[in-house]
Amino acid sequence: MNQEDLWRSFPTTATEFEAMFPDEKACRRYLVEVRWGGRPRCGKCDHDRVWELTNGRFECRQCGHQTSVTAGTVLHKTRKPLRMWFRAIWEMSVRKNGISAKELQRILGFGSYETAWTWMHKLRRCTRREGRDRLDDDVQVDETYVGRRCRTHGRGTSKALILIAAERGGRTRLEHGLSLKETDMAGFFLRNIAPSATVTTDSLQSYSQRAVAPRSHHRVNLKQLDIKNEDPLHQCHRVANLLKRWLLGTYHGSASRKHLAAYLDEYAFRFNRRKTRGVGRIAARLIQQAVAVRPITYRTIVHSPVAP
Ligand SMILES: [Zn+2]
Repeated sequence: MNQEDLWRSFPTTATEFEAMFPDEKACRRYLVEVRWGGRPRCGKCDHDRVWELTNGRFECRQCGHQTSVTAGTVLHKTRKPLRMWFRAIWEMSVRKNGISAKELQRILGFGSYETAWTWMHKLRRCTRREGRDRLDDDVQVDETYVGRRCRTHGRGTSKALILIAAERGGRTRLEHGLSLKETDMAGFFLRNIAPSATVTTDSLQSYSQRAVAPRSHHRVNLKQLDIKNEDPLHQCHRVANLLKRWLLGTYHGSASRKHLAAYLDEYAFRFNRRKTRGVGRIAARLIQQAVAVRPITYRTIVHSPVAP
């Protein structure tokens, strides 16, 4: 089966999901389809003739190397059943507001909160697809701030800056902004918005011609706007409101600044798929990503957070 057919055949409801993935074998078979198009390959010599062993691992007929479908992926060396991972992916993708580590711990019966927290962060790293298309056509850009002001951190007393780009009626991109300096802004535009787009911003100085170019730039002075007119940045304002509500609701505002970029990725992942027909298919996308992303350890998560 090709990837699109696989995606289409993915369960759209929880009942279908339980029926399609009743055991380890079913989950493994599905991962083999997603990762190798149904034909397992040797992790060492890339040979495609392998034996399937009774423990679910594969042995290469050419070099004898043993591998598993999760080796070299984000699920690398997991000691927990794949069914649990599938369940975590399902809950994170399908629930409108995702799931907190605490809820995940409860649902899967983990002894430690740390395990659930690590799983969530591993899956969050799968919500950003490398090489994805930049936003195009009509794109609104705005900034907002989240979190509490914090006196104890001396000069870093301000809230966290978030840059928002939103296509009219479409996708969004969110970044934890370093500053409102022109060079940082230019970087945000470069990473997230195609040169052919038309960009609408307010009159803040940071949205200078140099930062926005070569995109066409529509600059509005919000203060001079007639109230009866449509808010020219309504899409950004909507995303900002939903995002803040999500951070407060699911995380009670406790999403740490250090990992904010990862939370933004997770939020945008679901938001950009909000119109997906058959909500379960959002989980299929996350599974595709999970076998494409390299292994990540707890140490990496703690010491090298996702870049803003
Ligand atoms: Zn081999």
